[in-house]
Amino acid sequence: MNDFTPTFIEILGACGPKQFADAPTAARFEALTALLADANRKMNLTAITDEREIILKHYADCLLCADLIPQGARLLDVGCGGGFPTLPLAIVRPDLEITALDATAKKLTFVKTAADALGLRVRTVAGRAEELGRDQAFRARFDAVTARAVAELRVLAEWCLPFVRVGGVFLAMKGSAGEEELASAQNALRLLGGDVEKVEEHTLGEARRINILIRKRRETPGVYPRRNAQIKKSPL
Ligand code: SAH
Repeated sequence: MNDFTPTFIEILGACGPKQFADAPTAARFEALTALLADANRKMNLTAITDEREIILKHYADCLLCADLIPQGARLLDVGCGGGFPTLPLAIVRPDLEITALDATAKKLTFVKTAADALGLRVRTVAGRAEELGRDQAFRARFDAVTARAVAELRVLAEWCLPFVRVGGVFLAMKGSAGEEELASAQNALRLLGGDVEKVEEHTLGEARRINILIRKRRETPGVYPRRNAQIKKSPL
């Protein structure tokens, strides 16, 4: 782990975002990497185990969306898994009030333990997005919702947009299929009250990453989210 700091600084300096390419930030990500490696031996949190790859494919990728989240936002990360983008965002954006949601409770145990160990303010909630989206304690309560590698955009939008308050944003972090998914999600976005505000493309090594920022303009009708079987059977 001795060369973590120079590797982190090199990758962030080359691929962005450059403002995080410094030794104090690297030290915090090195601590996260140790926690992740340890937990990953007991459960499957990430298929990526090489340090360089973790920095490039997880950390740089998550940090590239940091500037898209409004200052001081109440943020919900849907399907956070092992804590992406929750943990990288919590490290560099202490202004955010982050809730991490996943259907798998044991992944959340890791996210909570890691957040506490790193002194980060993160709340975890176990549950299914399409069920919590009908719960008034969650519906329209967030300024920003993120989701990375969770589901196809049409499905994801029905899970995520109900959580966003009118005027807030939904950020879908996608791979190279991002534009195609966006093209087929036009109807879903219209029905759910979202308008595309920005599509950002980044290259991380061989990988093309597409961040899609959707602004919620209108209230989501009460019929959404539907039951999951229906969402999957007939996506909007
Ligand atoms: N965002 C993480 C994890 C992606 S894997 C990352 O980028 O690494 C997808 C995660 O979404 C899994 O942990 C799975 O448990 C969760 N998930 C899938 N469907 C869900 C649903 N309907 N509600 C909540 N979480 C869900």
